[in-house]
Amino acid sequence: MDCTKCDREAVMHAAYSGAHLCERHLFESVERRVRRRIREDDMLPDDATPEDPETWVIGLSGGKDSVVLTDIIEETFAEDPRVELVALTIHEGIEGYRDESLAACEQLTADRDVRHEVVTYADEFDVEMDDVVEDDPMDMAACAYCGVFRRDLLAKYAEAYDADKLLTGHNLDDEAETALMNILEGNVEQVAKHFDASLGPFDERTPKDEMIPRAKPLRDVPEKEVALYAQLRDLPVHMEECPHSSEAFRGEIQDLLLKLEENHPGTRHSIMAGYEELAGLAADQYSDEDADVGECEECGAPTTRDRCRKCALVEAVNAV
Ligand SMILES: [Zn+2]
Ligand SMILES: [Zn+2]
Repeated sequence: MDCTKCDREAVMHAAYSGAHLCERHLFESVERRVRRRIREDDMLPDDATPEDPETWVIGLSGGKDSVVLTDIIEETFAEDPRVELVALTIHEGIEGYRDESLAACEQLTADRDVRHEVVTYADEFDVEMDDVVEDDPMDMAACAYCGVFRRDLLAKYAEAYDADKLLTGHNLDDEAETALMNILEGNVEQVAKHFDASLGPFDERTPKDEMIPRAKPLRDVPEKEVALYAQLRDLPVHMEECPHSSEAFRGEIQDLLLKLEENHPGTRHSIMAGYEELAGLAADQYSDEDADVGECEECGAPTTRDRCRKCALVEAVNAV
């Protein structure tokens, strides 16, 4: 099959658009969608200058999504002194898994000359995820602890590096799964957070104006295209799944979405279009004034309680 845009051989077919794309036109198409998202989300303000640049911190895990995002953002702004990048890798203390993905992060940032910072649960919380999984003092899924710790460190270090934006590599499939999960769980409060706090403390409201804005420039690109992009560009990517991954419900939603997309191409796009409209309406219902947000008495993070969720979990884990 030939490419829809030229006479080279197609490497992929996007059923939702009907396009067959060759390698070169796949690259162009993915990069165009990321750049369009940066424009449409107004990520780069008019007052950013070479003297007073924007600092963008990118959560870089070494998986395909964050590697592709870092690669495209670096390429896009390589000659543009208005944007400075910091890649931030969180080491959870998962033997083998994170050490290998850290190597991918180091290779990418060294190749592209991007500032790279690594912070660890061990240094920050005296916690290793391998031990947390074994002890499990709160009787929860591993991802539930890990998500709280990761969000806390992303927010803390984005602030420490004076970030103007915090970028993450969520792709279209991730976003559509999360949207569907929130709706199926009836979690309207979480729907309301779609635009402002997708990485904020998930059980607490955080005032928008005190938060570093989040951005997900890959959110229009389906997972399969991100994977193909990484592979054909020969980017250093760690493909393995986390050995503690335990999000059973997300797995079911994933299977469901793949099937829906196969029978009804464009389902992911239409879910997100509707979800964004719903999220706007829900956000009006859960306005910031309702939340009584103060500071955690231990770490100073924004919280609606005396002590934030992260501090409670760190204590529980370290008490074992
Ligand atoms: Zn082509
Ligand atoms: Zn705290």
